[in-house]
Amino acid sequence: MAYIISDDARELLKDVKEFAEKEIKEQVKAYDISGEWPKEIYDKAIEMQLHMMDVPEEYGGLGLDHIDQAAILEQIAWADAGVAVTLNGNGLALKPVLIAGNEEQKQKCCDIIVNGGWGVFALTEPDAGCDAGNGKTTAVRSGDEYILNGRKCFITNAQVGDFYVVTAMTDKSKGTRGMSAFLIYKDTPGLSVGNHENKMGIRTSVTSDLVLDDVRVPVENRLGEEGTGFITAMKTLDLARTWCAVIGVGLAQRCIDEAVNYAKQRIQFGKPISSHQAIEFKIADMEIRTEASRQLVAHAIRLSDLGMSFGRESAAAKCFAGDSVVQTALDAVQILGGYGYSREYPVEKLLRDAKIFQIFEGTNEIQRMVVGRSVISSH
Ligand SMILES: Cc1cc2nc3c(=O)[nH]c(=O)nc-3n(C[C@H](O)[C@H](O)[C@H](O)COP(=O)(O)OP(=O)(O)OC[C@H]3O[C@@H](n4cnc5c(N)ncnc54)[C@H](O)[C@@H]3O)c2cc1C
Repeated sequence: MAYIISDDARELLKDVKEFAEKEIKEQVKAYDISGEWPKEIYDKAIEMQLHMMDVPEEYGGLGLDHIDQAAILEQIAWADAGVAVTLNGNGLALKPVLIAGNEEQKQKCCDIIVNGGWGVFALTEPDAGCDAGNGKTTAVRSGDEYILNGRKCFITNAQVGDFYVVTAMTDKSKGTRGMSAFLIYKDTPGLSVGNHENKMGIRTSVTSDLVLDDVRVPVENRLGEEGTGFITAMKTLDLARTWCAVIGVGLAQRCIDEAVNYAKQRIQFGKPISSHQAIEFKIADMEIRTEASRQLVAHAIRLSDLGMSFGRESAAAKCFAGDSVVQTALDAVQILGGYGYSREYPVEKLLRDAKIFQIFEGTNEIQRMVVGRSVISSH
């Protein structure tokens, strides 16, 4: 079994399963069409404390261990990947604070989340996507403050954020060692949200530009030392990639469930299509890929929990799970035939939702670079 979860998490998982089936799965159909933020779903998720799975117990959070979180996140993603991405956004924003922040910063960000707020991690820029170290956003020291200018793009939860972890160049001449990370709170003058993306999938999550126009940030809001922002961001992404893979696994499992249910009741040539070997083999491949993804990600999570290096494994898990979920969603559409292509049935949405797992948290080309370089350098 990929996830051997604690008794406490088992209880929570039961409640999450009920929430996913009764209050997410059907409700998200309308939000997928409108692209609206499904406030009622997030209000309920906050009530169930699912937005604070990453907040350590000593800071008032659930303090779940990573394997327990994986099982819960997978279940939410089964119902809707966009909801899982949104809830996971808090973990993504909190991670750099827990890695590089001081006690006061950690407590403040955890308090915001515990009280129902949202954190945001803003690294990507219009000219710095895969090449994330090449950002143009600057932070210029002026007395006890930094003045930040620039634009971030494709930022999950930017629209609803209460605190933002923003990277900016404090010394461009030093390359990635000249990048620093800052905490900026909602309503800081000069900070605004720009263009909202009208996305192909995960439409229950919001993604927007973040604009910094002479934003004055006190020196005490810097996370860690000057010049450590890039390394903090990369450490954050190591863990974030495991969550990305877990959400992909939940979505792939949903593709399998939808395809099998359909194949058992659809009759062609006088018998259910599930009895045709070509369909049976397709379902077998969907299952093999999904379980392999689950095992890869569980392995990466276990290494991280043991305090061992896990960058290669989390990149491999994210890459494999991302490619797998896209193929599995394509297979699900194929099994439903013409109905798979129709918006009347759920699988076309699953295919649109799946594609992002080859793109965000580092594209799969970048994951292959990480894995390839690691393998080659260790030989
Ligand atoms: C829905 C969504 C949510 C997101 N959320 C966040 C967020 O919360 N915070 C955040 O900071 N970012 C976020 N991102 C940004 C995301 O991480 C980037 O889109 C991603 O890293 C790719 O950057 P890019 O889009 O600029 O593509 P580019 O870097 O322009 O890449 C374009 C293509 O070229 C390929 N490529 C680039 N360089 C190489 C290379 N050296 N070798 C081989 N191929 C290469 C890429 O793999 C890709 O296929 C989000 C993106 C989306 C779409």
